[in-house]
Parts: sequence; C-alpha cells; structure tokens
Amino acid sequence: MTAVPVIIEVAVPSPLYRSFDYKLPDTTSVPAPGTRVLVPFGRQRLVGIVLGHKAHSDLAGNKLKAVQEVLDPQPVFDTGLLQLLNWAARYYHHPIGETLATALPVLLRKTGKPANTTLHHWQLTELGHAQSTTDLQRAARQVQVLEILQAQPQGLPRDALPVPLSVLKALEDKGWIECFVASPQQRAPVITTAESAPALTTQQELAVQKVLSGSDRFTPYLLDGVTGSGKTEVYLQLIAPQLAAAKQVLVLVPEIGLTPQLVDRFQQRFGLTIPVLHSALNDTERLQAWQQAADGSAPLVLGTRSAVFTPLKNPGLIIVDEEHDASLKQQDGLRYSARDLAVWRARQLDIPVILGSATPSLESLYNVQQERYTYLHLPERAGGAQHPHMHLMDLRNQGMHGLLSDALLNIIQRHLQASGQVLLFLNRRGFAPVLLCHACGWVAECHRCDARMTLHQKRGELRCHHCGNQRRIDAFCPDCGSSELLGIGEGTERVEQTLKEQFPDQRVLRIDRDSTRRKGALSAALDDAGNARTDILLGTQMLAKGHHFPNVTLVAVLDADQGLFSTDFRAGERMAQLIIQVAGRAGRADKPGEVVIQTHHPDHPLLQQLVEEGYPAFANAALEERRETGLPPYASMALLRAEATAAALPRAFLEQARLLAEPFAGNSVQLWGPVAAPMERRAGRYRAQLLVQTAQRTELQRLLKQWIPQLETLKDIRRVRWSIDVDPIDTY
Ligand code: ADP
Ligand code: ZN
Ligand code: ZN
Repeated sequence: MTAVPVIIEVAVPSPLYRSFDYKLPDTTSVPAPGTRVLVPFGRQRLVGIVLGHKAHSDLAGNKLKAVQEVLDPQPVFDTGLLQLLNWAARYYHHPIGETLATALPVLLRKTGKPANTTLHHWQLTELGHAQSTTDLQRAARQVQVLEILQAQPQGLPRDALPVPLSVLKALEDKGWIECFVASPQQRAPVITTAESAPALTTQQELAVQKVLSGSDRFTPYLLDGVTGSGKTEVYLQLIAPQLAAAKQVLVLVPEIGLTPQLVDRFQQRFGLTIPVLHSALNDTERLQAWQQAADGSAPLVLGTRSAVFTPLKNPGLIIVDEEHDASLKQQDGLRYSARDLAVWRARQLDIPVILGSATPSLESLYNVQQERYTYLHLPERAGGAQHPHMHLMDLRNQGMHGLLSDALLNIIQRHLQASGQVLLFLNRRGFAPVLLCHACGWVAECHRCDARMTLHQKRGELRCHHCGNQRRIDAFCPDCGSSELLGIGEGTERVEQTLKEQFPDQRVLRIDRDSTRRKGALSAALDDAGNARTDILLGTQMLAKGHHFPNVTLVAVLDADQGLFSTDFRAGERMAQLIIQVAGRAGRADKPGEVVIQTHHPDHPLLQQLVEEGYPAFANAALEERRETGLPPYASMALLRAEATAAALPRAFLEQARLLAEPFAGNSVQLWGPVAAPMERRAGRYRAQLLVQTAQRTELQRLLKQWIPQLETLKDIRRVRWSIDVDPIDTY
C-alpha cells in the first residue's frame, strides 16, 4: 500500500486572499502548523507559513509543487498566535500570507536559516574577581561595571550594563571581564537594582485589588486615571505578582522613542533587562527579543504596536498604555488596532488586559457603559500633587508678539520669577507654515501635494510636511521676481526666536522632530527638561506624552483653534485629549500648576466644557453627540481608499467598487462616496475614498466578506493602489 502524500497548506506573502497547496517530499517529516517553509512561488522562492495539512488538494497531483525546505525545527507561531493572526486577517480583510509576514521579525521573513542570535553576556574573569575597585578611583564607569558584575557572578547581558561598549572593551583588554554565549537558562531574568515600591493610595489600592481578585481569567479593564494619578505605579504593582509567579507580562505603548522614562521606571523597579521591541532596533536585536519572549526567558516585554504579535511562553497579563493614542493603529498594510488585538488575545489566553489612559478613547468609554470593560478610576493625583488650574485666554484684540499674547508673557514672567519652569505647546514645527510674495501674492506650494511648503528658516529650506519634499528657499518670487518673500504664521522655530528676544536671560529648549533628529537627542533634551537645566520648554506633541517634568508650573497651549474646525469627526476628541495630556505636564510634583489655553474662540462649547468641567464631562457629551449622529462607536465603518497618478482613475475605480457593493448593502449598510480625499493630491498621487458605514458590526463584516474578494474582478484594479481600512481612525 502506498501512503497518501501529505498536502501542506501554506500562507505565502502575496496580495492574494488565499493559501496555497504544496506536496511534501516523502523524506520530509510533516511540519506542524506555524512552521516556516521555503516554497517555489511563480519564479520566486518564498518563505511561507504552514497553516495545516490535508489528504487531498483541488489541484491535480501533477500540478502540485513541492515544499523545498522546512526551515524551523519548531513552529515560530504557536496555535494561539496563529488563531489571532487568522482572525486579524479575516477581520481586517488582509491577505493571510501578508498578515503572517507582518507579524514575523524581518530576519525570519528571509530565506535561509534563522540568524544566529545567541546572546552575549559579560562576566568577571578570575583576574577580575581579584581586583579591588578602590584601585580604579578615576575610572568611575569601569568601577560601576566591576561592582555590578561582582554582585552577579553568573554574568549579565550586554544591555544590563549601563555603559558604552568602549568601557567594556577597556576592561576586557585588562583581562578582567570576558564575553560568553549564554544558554537559555542563563538568560533567566536578572535582578540588578530593584527599588522598593511606594505604598499605594486608596484609589490605586482599589484598582490593584480589583484586578488581583480576578487575575487568573480574562477581564478587560479600563484604567481611567488623570495625569499623574499613578497609573504606571498600578501597572508596576500588578506586574510584580505576575513575575513572582513566573508569568510573562506584555506592555504595549504608543511610541517607545517618546517614553524613555517609562522604560527606565520598569528597569529601576524590577531591575530586569527588558526586551524592548520597537522600530529602532536592528533586525538581530529584534529577533533576539522575540526569541527571548518565546522561550520564556523574558518576563517582561515592552513594545510598540507590533509587539502584540510577540510569542509568549507563559503569559499572565497584558497592559496597553495610552490606549487612546492613534499610533496604536497601523496605517498601512495590515491596518490593525494593537489595542483591539490585545483585548482579543487576552480573551483567547484567558488573562486580564488593562487599557490605561488619562483621556480614554470614546470607544473604550462606550465599552465601559456597555459593561464589556470593567472600570477602574483614579480621579486624584498621587503623592499630594494637585490638579492644575486651567483657564482660557481670549486672544481677540490682545497685543501679540507672534503667538505670544501680552497677557501670556506676563504670566510666563511671573512663573519664571517664582523659579517655576514653563512649557509652551504648539503642534506645528518649522518657522512659518506659509511663504508668501508680498508683491504679487504667490505662495510656495509643494509640486507633489495639494499643500503649502513650510518655511524652515535656520536650515534655509522649504519643506513639505506631507511628502518630505524639500528645496532651498526661493530668493525671488518665481512669478514676479520680487525679493520680498514673507514667512506667514507661526511654527515652533519662530516662537523659539520670539522667546529668546523676550527672555534673553532664560534658557529656552525646543523639542520637536526637527530638533531631535539626531539619535539620543530626544532623551538628552527630556533629561535637561526634567532636571530643570532649562527655563522655558517649547514643543510639539512630542512633549505631551507621559513625560514627568517635576518643575513645570505653567503650561500654555499657544493655539487651541488649530483643531476646532476640522472635517474629521474625531478631531474634537483628539484635540481634547491633546490639551488634557499637555495640561497634565503642569504641577506634577509639589508645585501647583497653571494651564493657559490661548484661543480666538473662547465661547466655543467644546473648549468651554473641557476647561470648566474636564475630560469626563467632555467625553460624555461627545459620546452623546456620536449617538445622535450615528457615528462610531455607535456605528462601524470601513474605508476603501484608492490612489493613482492619473487624476480620474481612483474615483472611477471606486465607482466600480461601489456598484459591486450595492447588492450586498441592503437597507442596513450605507455607502458614502466615492469622494476625493480632503488633500486630494499627495506625493504626486491622486486619492479618493469610499466609506462603508452601518449601525451593526456584523453587517459590516458580512458585506466586506462578500465584497472584498470580488474587487479582484474590476478592470482597473491593477492600475490603482487600493486598501481597505476596517475601523479607520482617520476618515480622510
Ligand atoms: P501616571 O502614569 O498616571 O501619569 P505616575 O505613575 O507616573 O502617574 O505617577 C505620577 C507621580 O506620582 C510619579 O512621580 C510617581 O512616582 C508618583 N506616585 C505614584 N503613585 C504614588 C504613590 N502611591 N505614592 C507616592 N507617589 C506616587
Ligand atoms: Zn511675486
Ligand atoms: Zn508634498
């Protein structure tokens, strides 16, 4: 009897919405689902993932190609992760092969065996043990390393030693320390300098107890705590018992680059070397962190949104910090919400998940109202700090120095005199957003976008903030030849200049993407800011996120009107969150804070409510408005986008797509559009969109499931770039 050959179903990274069948050479043992295999695909050889096995394929036996190589001895995705990714592919209507590839570290997407990612550790040599650190008085950092390693005879990984590599090399040259390859056992967590935890406030204690009382099963929590209320402390004290029970904790944050202080706090408390997954890691480091999480040697994994796909051997808890933050949603390829996938994953793993924020998203507040999430509230600041006093500053008819009103200058003066630090917020970098010809009215525009170029005076450049296009500042108007070109409007660079004129004796520090391009520049700047080596801080939203500046007593939002009149229905929510987050930087320690919000629209109801009643009242009103207008979270949306270099093509394609969708829409699903995107041309491409909306989530999924596969039949599909965005957070 001849054995029936096994057919392997493989997900191959391709834009096709299906898996592919391959046969397995007789000599090869059957790889488990989740294993990587090398397969021929057209003329290429690609790395695919085994989804399953079967005895028969629809493809005739002689057409089946064979798996060329099984790449892993063990699956890289366990069953749970495969289920999560399968679900994500279905829910976001993204091809399964590309979905799985998105979740893999880059090195595992490549052909060939996984790179050697053995972890190098350092330990003392015998000679090193014999040294007395007193002989090294003048090499403080070498002393530090020796002391740390003397306390840790089993050796430590590179990143547990807080010194530059040159220091380690110097010690190695002396023959005092040596590098070795650690076994998985030796990679076990390392306690270096664990600090003790403060006693919790009553409210923190309530939150912690509530989670602990149900800590072994799935419960989603919303931790709604005002800025400075000690959310991070609650995380820390919930993580501790998990680590003690040898469970792993996954912490998702919006942007690691913006939260170096958070990483520090975790390290100080637990003394662990935390595998940090983020985009600045090189591919090898990323794979290492992934493997440490998978083999259980990393007890704590802290990462940005893609870390939600990290394999965990022994998971106990998932935390999503700043759950309202837009950067938790991926904006290309697999357009997933890391927050929503985290909740899905926690349900599947049957463990608790905590979503934390000072300004929760309306979606999460709605889920609390629906009793899907358990509410944890920290309404007061921890450690005796008080809520800052917030007020609107009416700019109408005020004397102005650029964006700084006379009244604000006085307030700044007052705080500086009282030795307070001042933080000014303006979400617009560059010198001026417009360059205008005073003679003829010409305006410098990007030739690739429907947008104006921003003037960057210091670098002598005009830059497009939408496509990155840049050029030298024109010396003469290209239309009339006049040399009288004016920068109109205010960006951070210009405000910095004004501040230096107004406060010549004060130290002004600007923090935005331009000033922090260099590696390490941001954490150096934040360090200066936190340590009061600067008097006036000025910056964009980079300043708003979770930083702790204990000496800031005044926060001023220079232009609150920026977000008031946007077309996106989420603009109000975004602006409110940003203002509250920025305001939260004031008065974080023992000094009381003041928050000034400059506006030309002091009567605007949204601003008034936010300032007078706070975020919860604002959020309630905003939710009520969403209910009345039938917008998310009271409705579900998907956005089909298309773009092309030919102007008419995207809309023509979407018209065809709409015709395909209409039979599935019925009465319960609305189709809006197609319409041009608000900024129609961007980076040389024309863009349009079609919105699908319904009050019933299941109806949306029903329609997408039937509709999306049919798009392949449209004649223009190869001529446009298109994407489907389920639960879009930007509807433009
Ligand atoms: P959040 O994450 O909500 O902004 P943090 O956890 O950063 O708040 O706490 C704000 C400040 O209060 C920090 O300096 C922190 O050390 C301090 N803090 C938090 N909880 C306590 C506590 N129980 N006792 C004393 N200080 C605390
Ligand atoms: Zn001109
Ligand atoms: Zn541009």
